[in-house]
Amino acid sequence: MIPVKFDYIHAESVEQAIRLQQESNGEGKLIAGGHSLLPLMKFRLTEPGVLIDISRISQLKEVRKEGDRIVVGALTTHHAASNDPVIKEHIPLLADTVRQIGDLQVRNRGTIGGNIAHADPAADLPAAAFALDAQVIIQGEDGEETMPVDQFIVGPLITMMPENSIVTAVSFAIPPRHTRSVYLKYFHPASGYPVVGVAAIAGVDESGVIDFVRIGITGVGDIAYRAESVEQTLLGQTPSEAMIQEASRLAAEEGEMGNDFFTSSEYREHLCKVYTERALRSILLAN
Ligand SMILES: Cc1cc2nc3c(=O)[nH]c(=O)nc-3n(C[C@H](O)[C@H](O)[C@H](O)COP(=O)(O)OP(=O)(O)OC[C@H]3O[C@@H](n4cnc5c(N)ncnc54)[C@H](O)[C@@H]3O)c2cc1C
Repeated sequence: MIPVKFDYIHAESVEQAIRLQQESNGEGKLIAGGHSLLPLMKFRLTEPGVLIDISRISQLKEVRKEGDRIVVGALTTHHAASNDPVIKEHIPLLADTVRQIGDLQVRNRGTIGGNIAHADPAADLPAAAFALDAQVIIQGEDGEETMPVDQFIVGPLITMMPENSIVTAVSFAIPPRHTRSVYLKYFHPASGYPVVGVAAIAGVDESGVIDFVRIGITGVGDIAYRAESVEQTLLGQTPSEAMIQEASRLAAEEGEMGNDFFTSSEYREHLCKVYTERALRSILLAN
């Protein structure tokens, strides 16, 4: 449980964080809140020669509205995001999701950027990120680039993060005003991580038919996904218990269900359906 020896340095700016990575010749690793990195180091699953602490870069803590998107600075903690007035007004699904991460101590240190960059298949945030068409904003040696979250996260703990770069923010699409949203999870009793986490947004138009629906699912396999079959089944329909049950049967369609000592893939598939059903019922049928 003791990490190997490492150097430690604070970066005061994004540019310095990139330069320090270049100078470390592949030995450097960014640290934000340390809530995922330090456990890995203690288990010696990663052994960086130098930790580059980015936690003082204040420009990475900003949350702002930019057109039809909300840009959330990478260093925004889960606690800050769950209480931010801009997030609560425009993308309440994000506030609802990060409010359910770990405990208060975890939410006080863990960051939006660190959670996405870590790409833990069991993390909560990817469900909301997929449902809200998140884009990851990356500053690297050759300037800034933006990657949709489904292209950024490509496997368990694997991302398309270029060398010597830093996630500066994650931006989320603002859903139409008339929609409602919810994040529901069935969590592992020991860790609190989702075994299945379902983030859902939906709304009906003036004639009473569903005109917007997005569903992101996390925790069940190596990678989060959008349940597009459920979305397609619901679009243009009048919400009803029968319709929701029929559509939710397809909740596992686009995902690969994991199989481990805690739950079988069959049970995960079942949980996907049940939690999608509950989420849709709460936003489409409850008053
Ligand atoms: C006890 C405990 C319980 C938890 N429970 C949950 C839970 O229920 N649900 C859940 O989703 N999560 C949970 N977490 C994880 C938590 O959400 C962390 O916030 C999250 O994993 C990221 O941690 P961090 O921001 O501290 O990043 P760090 O640990 O500092 O970094 C994680 C990784 O991301 C990289 N990184 C960090 N920031 C950036 C950046 N800006 N640009 C590029 N790379 C970056 C680092 O180099 C590292 O590889 C838990 C953690 C603990 C310790």
